[in-house]
Amino acid sequence: MSKPIRRVAVIGAGVMGSGIAAHFANSGIETILLDIVPPNLTDDEKKVAANRNRFAVNGKTNALKNKPGAFFHATNADLVTVGNTEDDLGRLANVDLVVEAIIEKLEHKQSLFAKLDGLVAEGTIVASNTSGLSIAKMLEGRSDGFRKNFLVMHFFNPVRYMKLLEVVPGTETAPEVLERVKSIGANQLGKGVVLGHDTPNFIGNRIGVHAMLLTVHMAVEQKLSPEDVDLISGPPMGHPRSASFRTADIVGLDTFLHVADNCYDSLTNDPERDVFKAPAFMRTMVEKKLLGNKSKAGFFRRGKAGSETFDSDALDYRPAAETDAVKATCKKLSKIEDVRERVKALVADETVVGKFAWTSISRTLLYSAGLVGEISDDIEACDQAMRWGYNWELGPFESWDAIGFEAGLARMKADGLTIPASIEKMAASGAKAFYVGETKFDLAKGAYVPRDLDPKAKTLGEIRRGPKPVFQNAGAEAWDLGDGILGLTFTTKANSIDNEVIAALPRAVELAEKDFRGLVITNEGEHFCVGANLLMVVMAAQAKQWETIRGTVRGLQSAVQRMKYATVPIVAAPYGMTVGGGLEVCLASHATQAYCETYAGLVEVGVGLIPGGGGNLNLLWRALSAIPEGVEVDTLPYVTNVFKSIAMAKVSSSAVEAQQFGFFYPRDGISLDRARLVSEAKARAIGLADAGFVPNVPRAFRLPGESGIATLHMMIDTLVAGGMATEYDAHIARKLASVLCGGAGGAFKSVTEAEMLELEGEVFVSLCGETKSQERMQAMLTTNKPLRN
Ligand code: NAD
Repeated sequence: MSKPIRRVAVIGAGVMGSGIAAHFANSGIETILLDIVPPNLTDDEKKVAANRNRFAVNGKTNALKNKPGAFFHATNADLVTVGNTEDDLGRLANVDLVVEAIIEKLEHKQSLFAKLDGLVAEGTIVASNTSGLSIAKMLEGRSDGFRKNFLVMHFFNPVRYMKLLEVVPGTETAPEVLERVKSIGANQLGKGVVLGHDTPNFIGNRIGVHAMLLTVHMAVEQKLSPEDVDLISGPPMGHPRSASFRTADIVGLDTFLHVADNCYDSLTNDPERDVFKAPAFMRTMVEKKLLGNKSKAGFFRRGKAGSETFDSDALDYRPAAETDAVKATCKKLSKIEDVRERVKALVADETVVGKFAWTSISRTLLYSAGLVGEISDDIEACDQAMRWGYNWELGPFESWDAIGFEAGLARMKADGLTIPASIEKMAASGAKAFYVGETKFDLAKGAYVPRDLDPKAKTLGEIRRGPKPVFQNAGAEAWDLGDGILGLTFTTKANSIDNEVIAALPRAVELAEKDFRGLVITNEGEHFCVGANLLMVVMAAQAKQWETIRGTVRGLQSAVQRMKYATVPIVAAPYGMTVGGGLEVCLASHATQAYCETYAGLVEVGVGLIPGGGGNLNLLWRALSAIPEGVEVDTLPYVTNVFKSIAMAKVSSSAVEAQQFGFFYPRDGISLDRARLVSEAKARAIGLADAGFVPNVPRAFRLPGESGIATLHMMIDTLVAGGMATEYDAHIARKLASVLCGGAGGAFKSVTEAEMLELEGEVFVSLCGETKSQERMQAMLTTNKPLRN
C-alpha cells in the first residue's frame, strides 16, 4: 500500500492553485499555499509580511468567497497557511508533495523547479498542474533525483467538483511515485485518476477542445446559431446542458483559445490540426474582453430585454432565438432516459439535428480512436476523461458502442471518412463492441483485455446479490448486499417518501434484525431524497382528509423510531439533495456515510409545514445527546439552535457542513468519491456490527417549556420587525417553538419522545389545514420554488 500524504505545498495561488489547496484541505491535509511577492511594492511595503503574502492571501480568500465554494466548510480553510516564494520556500523541506500551479509559461516553471531541486527533501514528490507543457522541457537541467519524483497532476476546474485527475508520468518517473500519486488521487482526494501520456493538453482537453471547436466551425459553415448548436450538442448527445458554446463561456474564451493554440502550435502532424485553429471572430471576442461568464459576456450575455447571442458576422449581440423545429426535436430526444438509446435515436434523426449530430459525433469518435496509443494506451482512460472532466454521460468509445460499433463504422465508411488502421483491425477481428462485460478492446493488441475496475466503485446493481430483492413493494426494494448487510433503496420518483416507502422502512429493519447484521439505506438517481411526496399531502389537505394525514405522519414517525431503536446498526448513505423526510431517515439512522456533496436540511417551512417524521425530535435528540447524564445545563441554547435550523430551513452546502449543523454526527463518514459511496456505507455498517453494536436507549430530556417559548417568540418578533420573516413564517415558527420546547405549560420539564412526537404530529396536521400552507405546497409543486406568502 502506498503511504498517504500528510503535508502539501501548492505554489501559485490563482484559480487552480487556490482550488487545489482548498481541496487538499477538504481531504484533511495540511497545505501551504505560496505565490510570488507582488512585484509593485514600495520599499516600505516590502517590509510588511501581509503585503508580501498578498497574492496567496487573495487566493485563499477567493477560494472561501467563490460560489460554489471551494472549501467544504470555512473550518477547512484553517488547514491552509499562506506565504510567498521569496521567504517561505524553506517550509517545503518537510512536505510530502509540492504541486506547482503557476502561470503556464515554460521559463517560469523551469526556474521554479531549479529552485526546488535540492531544496525539497529526498522522496518529496513534485507535480505540475500544467495544462500541456512537455515534461521533458520543464525538467531540462534537473537532477536525477528530481526527475524520479516528478510528474504531472492535471486537475480540472473547479477542483472540488470535477472528478478528473489526469496523472502523467515522465520517462524517468519512478513507478512507486506514480503508484503513490494514483493512490493519493483516488483514496485521499476522491478523484477519478486517468493515466495519460506526455502530449499537448493530455486526454480530456485534447478530445474536448477538438469536439467543441469542431462544432463551432460546423456552426459557422452550416449557418446554425450557437443556441441551436447548444441544443443539439447538449443532452441529446449525452453532454451537459452547457453543451459547446456555453461551456466555452464557462471556461473563459481566453483560456479556451490558449489550450486550442497550444494544440495548433505543437501538433504539426495532427490530421485534425485545422480544427484547433479557432475562427477569427473568437480572437476578436477575446480582444474585446468578451471572455464569457467571468466578463459577463461571451457567446451569450444577459441583455436588458433577455438573453442575447454574439453574432459572428455582425460581431455584435442580437436577441437569442432558438429555432422551433430544432427545439422540439431536441426536447423529444432529451426525454429518452437511457443515454445510449438517446444517442442512437439522435444519430438516426433525419432532420438537421440528427445530421449535425452525426457529423460531429462521427468525427469525434474517429479522432479519439486515432489518438489511442498517442495520448493514452487505453480506450477506457479516454472515456473516463470525458465523463469526469467534461461531464459527458458517455465517452467516445461508449458512444460508439451505443450507436453500434459495426453500424457506426459502416456509416462512417459510406460517408467517405478515413478510418484508423486500429479500427479496421478491430472490425476484421470480428469484435462487435469496445466493451464486453468486464473486458475492453485493446486497440494496440487487437484483442480484449480485462478492465481495470476500482473494486470500491460499485453501484447498487453491481453489489447486490441474488436474482431478486429480499423484499419489494411499489416504493422500495431491499437487497442482500453480501457480508450480512441488507440494503434498502427507494424506487419512487426522485426517491420521495410515500406510504410505500413508509411501509418498507420498518419491514427492512425487521428483516435486517432477523437475517442480517446491519442495514444500509442507499438510493440511486440524482438525489438521495427530495422529502415527502408533497402531492399526496396537498391532495389529502384539500380534501380535508385529516385522519389520512395523521395516519401518514404516525406511520413515518413510527418507521423512523423503529429504525432508531433497531438492534442492528443502520447506516444511511445520503448524497445530493437530502431534505425533509430524506434527512429525517438519516437522523434516525445510527450512522451516515455521506457523499461530500450532500445538501441536507429540514426545509418543511418552505412549504408551510414543520417536519412530520420525527425530525424535530431527532435533531433535538442528537443535539441534547451531547450533554452527559447528570449535567444540569440550560437546554434552551440547544433548542434555539435546532429551532433556527428548522425555522430558517437551513440547507448544508456539503456533508461537512451538515455535520456542523448537527444533521450528521462528527464521527460519521464522508465519501469523497460518489462511485464508492455504497461500498463505503456497507463497510461502515460492517464496522459497526463487528465492533460491538449497542442499540439506542430511550432518554427523556428536560425541555424549557413556557419560558423557552417566550424567548423564541421574542426572536420571531424581531425577525418580522426586521423584514426577515413574513407574518405567516412567524405563525409557523411559533408552532415550531412550542414543539421544540416540549409544549406550553410549566417551565423546564422532562419530556418523553412519545410526547414530542404527539406535539409534532398535531402541529403538522393543523398546518395542513391552513390556506397559506396549502398555497405554499401548491407553489412548490407547480414552480419548484418556495412561496413566501
Ligand atoms: P492564474 O493566472 O489564475 O494563476 C497563476 C498564479 O501563479 C498567479 O497567482 C500568479 O501570481 C502565480 N505565479 C506566477 N508566477 C509565479 C511564480 N514564479 N511563482 C509562484 N507563483 C507564481 O492561472 P491558473 O488558471 O490558476 O493556472 C495555473 C496553472 O494551472 C497553469 O499551468 C494552467 O495551465 C494550469 N491549469 C489551468 C486550468 C484552468 O482551468 N484555469 C485547468 C487546469 C490546469
